[in-house]
Amino acid sequence: MASTEPDFKRFVFIIIDGAPYAIFKGLLENGDLPNIKKYVVDPGSLNKAVSVFPSTTGPAFIPFFMGLYPGTANIPGIRWLSKSKFHTPHRFKRPGVCSYMGLDGLRFEADLPSGFPTLFNFFSPVSNIYNLLARGCPPAKNLTRWIKPFVYTYAHFSHRWRFVNRIAIRQFHKAIEAGDKFVMCLFPAIDTFSHLSDIQSPQVFQTYREIDTAIGNLVHTLQKANTLEETLILITSDHGMTNTHTHIDVPQHLDDGGWRCLHYPKVWRQGTVSASMVSGNGMTHLYFKNSGKGKGWGERAPFEQLCQMGVVGSLIELKGLGLVAGQSETGDIIVQSRGGQGKISCHAQDTDDENPQRATTAFKCADALRFSYQFTGTDPLGYGVHYKNLSSRDALRETYDSPYPDGIVQLWQIFKSERTGDLVLSAESGYDLRARYEIPEHHATHGALIAEHLHIPLATNYPITEQCIRSVDVFPTVLNLCGHNISEQYIDGRVVK
Ligand SMILES: [Zn+2]
Repeated sequence: MASTEPDFKRFVFIIIDGAPYAIFKGLLENGDLPNIKKYVVDPGSLNKAVSVFPSTTGPAFIPFFMGLYPGTANIPGIRWLSKSKFHTPHRFKRPGVCSYMGLDGLRFEADLPSGFPTLFNFFSPVSNIYNLLARGCPPAKNLTRWIKPFVYTYAHFSHRWRFVNRIAIRQFHKAIEAGDKFVMCLFPAIDTFSHLSDIQSPQVFQTYREIDTAIGNLVHTLQKANTLEETLILITSDHGMTNTHTHIDVPQHLDDGGWRCLHYPKVWRQGTVSASMVSGNGMTHLYFKNSGKGKGWGERAPFEQLCQMGVVGSLIELKGLGLVAGQSETGDIIVQSRGGQGKISCHAQDTDDENPQRATTAFKCADALRFSYQFTGTDPLGYGVHYKNLSSRDALRETYDSPYPDGIVQLWQIFKSERTGDLVLSAESGYDLRARYEIPEHHATHGALIAEHLHIPLATNYPITEQCIRSVDVFPTVLNLCGHNISEQYIDGRVVK
């Protein structure tokens, strides 16, 4: 391989919604994905990358397209509530409470922070298939913008998600043949079939094979046009998944504790003093009304106050609840499990340790920050090590193969968002945090901070040797390989080689 990096002229970006790294790798090694192996991984690489918290569609797309964490982008979940903006009589006037699963899905793009470019801004012509983060893509090139609501609704009720995938394949092929310089294609069916059945069901495996065939056809089209060499192909996923055996009824638990809980779809509930906004359904944001502080629900309640109220103690007793995290009065992030408590603190590199300048809210270049982690009792994150003044990159490396990969930085970033709950809950593998009103019932889960949800495959037809990669790194890395420069000062990601 020559030492100079190629400038790819085209970029084909494929997101397989809900493909866990371990399953993808297993299929590849068993010969079930022969085209991806031959044309992508063999000449390039397959890496285990790390997604973001919450590991759920929507928030977990922002890193790929903008190089930002969900917390930086102020979109900390597929559902959220803004305590400062949420109040009667206008409680439903946006942006008080939001679920991108419903009509608000159309608002996802408008809710993204302004002034940040997306991948679509760097290429022309572009096309987009099913992906909801299409800012920068001309409407006419958002190929599924008209049919998506209909085919998704149809498939939701009929469970015919293969039909949705086939439309993706057809549009994908058309865009490649048209010679578009950036083609973005989301395949939604692995996620939905997994939720409906099992992450390794025959339907799920069949869908993987169909996607592999589509990629084989794509490569043949590129070969015929003599443009394979100049095309960067990247296949990844927004999150992994685990099978679910038990649903935890968080709103019921809060009701029983005397904190009457607002939750989807019962957002009209009267007299509520708490809210649960679930994502994936392995994580949820919990909000508690701070009375007597203006019209809204007040500011973020500190972790200490919620402990005093008995909320934290009551929640950690729930079997299957892995972590409860909140923000301390000091600005540090506290993470609590049944066996112990951890504390994440973050300060700017250039301030002295005696008087650290807190860096939890303002945007700071990740390289300018240092992270420390201490715990008492059993380490809730399972690292078993106290860390001091780690760079963001070292915090990733140290925790990469742990049960909570990148947990230090991920818990820090989610609390940067004003819309993040007073408490953030993450379920253990096998459990989710929604027991009612999920129709059809979900048999698989994502959204949590656990390794099975965070580890995602990153297959590229150009070799990437770096072992520790975050999904936020994809944005600057792809731009770099395609000959574009992006100032890393204003994004969370870094170019990886
Ligand atoms: Zn899902």
